[in-house]
Amino acid sequence: MRTTTSRRGAGQGDGRGRAERGAQDGEGPIRPGRSAAAPSPGGVRAPAIPVFLYHSVMDDPPGWIAEFTVTPQQFAAHLDAVVRSGRTPVTISAIADHLAGRAPLPPRPVLLTFDDGFADLPGPTAEALAERALPATAYLTTGAIAPGGRSLLPPAPMMPLARAAELERYGMEIGSHTVTHAQLDTLSAKDLAYELRASKAVLEDALGHEVRHLAYPHGYNSPRVRAMSARAGYETAAAVRHALSSDRDERYRIARLIVRRTHTVADVEGWLAGAGARVAPYRDGPKTIAWRWYRRARAMVRGPEFAG
Ligand SMILES: [Zn+2]
Repeated sequence: MRTTTSRRGAGQGDGRGRAERGAQDGEGPIRPGRSAAAPSPGGVRAPAIPVFLYHSVMDDPPGWIAEFTVTPQQFAAHLDAVVRSGRTPVTISAIADHLAGRAPLPPRPVLLTFDDGFADLPGPTAEALAERALPATAYLTTGAIAPGGRSLLPPAPMMPLARAAELERYGMEIGSHTVTHAQLDTLSAKDLAYELRASKAVLEDALGHEVRHLAYPHGYNSPRVRAMSARAGYETAAAVRHALSSDRDERYRIARLIVRRTHTVADVEGWLAGAGARVAPYRDGPKTIAWRWYRRARAMVRGPEFAG
């Protein structure tokens, strides 16, 4: 059972509300509660693949990311639930291989993903994963972790780019989360190309091999963003959607579930059982579409900002 019930919708609220929405990496306005997806009557639903989206794991996070931070104790309990579920943990490459027809997915896969590149990632978070032999995928915002870099993320303890290779040694796969954490669907073609290509190049320099996977900041994307991501050399891109993914999901809009501090082990167990959220792919609802247009219009007036 979740304990928070009040979230602001599109177009309402003050600066704090905007920052919270921005940090949630969501594609639409957050609606209270969360309804389990009922299988369509007579329809055949693709088997659900939970793709968890974590941010930082720490006891004392900065306020702006607190909602999306879990404590090390919560995190350990979630990982134990993943192990108990009997699902097979894989990284994003396994989904890419499946969607490209190169290799089948193992039975009942699960993905653990980490966005932004907070300081705990190459430390206690990687240790907790490694102790349980759980591979994971880390999407790094290069402007927030590279020496002298700049990003739209508010101040927080971040990992240094120099430790990205260490993450791989722990069994993590590295993807890009752009340079500045911009809302990609509001950018000019030139700025969009920069966010996609420069972050990829910086990570490839640091790791010594190609980086083929992307996660959209805030999950925000559009047909143009998806096409440009493919053209920039990415093979997949993770969105948010607050939904379970599936083996038929869209390669450039892979659904993920944001894990919030208010989520319980029972919530995590529900998702692992393939319940508690819709299963992608599905068409966007009117609220998601309305929120997208509101946000893009606002970006035209205000220019780039962190807030969603
Ligand atoms: Zn992010």
